[in-house]
Amino acid sequence: MMRDYKTEGIIIRVRDYNEADRIVTLFTRDYGKVQAIAKGCRKQKSRKRGVIQLFTYGEFALYRGRNLDTITQCEGKQSFGALREDLDRMAYGAYLAELLDGFLPSGEPHGEVFFLTLVCLHLLAVEDPELVTRAFETRIMDLLGYRPHLDGCVHCGRLLEGPKVAFSSRMGGGLCKSCAPQDGDSLVCALGTLNMLKQLSTWDIKRLRVLKLTGETKREIGEIMKAYIGHRLERKIKSAEFLETLTIMQNI
Ligand SMILES: [Zn+2]
Repeated sequence: MMRDYKTEGIIIRVRDYNEADRIVTLFTRDYGKVQAIAKGCRKQKSRKRGVIQLFTYGEFALYRGRNLDTITQCEGKQSFGALREDLDRMAYGAYLAELLDGFLPSGEPHGEVFFLTLVCLHLLAVEDPELVTRAFETRIMDLLGYRPHLDGCVHCGRLLEGPKVAFSSRMGGGLCKSCAPQDGDSLVCALGTLNMLKQLSTWDIKRLRVLKLTGETKREIGEIMKAYIGHRLERKIKSAEFLETLTIMQNI
């Protein structure tokens, strides 16, 4: 394997390291998730300074190391600066990046998830960030093969009938009223919420603003995705808790 390689990538995690370096997690288009060090990028005069930041989408030249690759050159194409200027949007962006870091295996490219991430980072800056995030969650679950079963009850197979149904993270889908007790941790929700969840995963993501969701539907979808993702990931997403604080503050 060649030790030098070039690829497009999105920075999904950044940590300061030593005096002037940064270690980043880079979601690359061609090689999937890689860990890389950008040496000297925090120095005043470094040309990498503005590029090695969370969310930057750019062209990267790297040198393969045993544990850590080295970024030898980088050129930013899009910095998504609008996300950094708004605490809310920044928080949703950070959550999106953390989800990617949590779900993507190292070294396996995933073109569709890469494209989805770029589109969602763009949309986060201009659309309702909560809705963009919910759409991102449903799609990344689909693309990674974790699509929840929403066509009928996941336990008995019967048609889901409203007004109230339930969602089981453990069983991976919707439950009819009589099967809801099969999972004591299932979340009761409106049938419309599960239908909207299904629609979110296939809806043209650039036309999200056309979807009219009530606050209640958004809240229920948020809770379902949080439980489902938590179950799949088996670890807590730090920024999700921060997002909840933000949402609570907005509703006061
Ligand atoms: Zn059932």
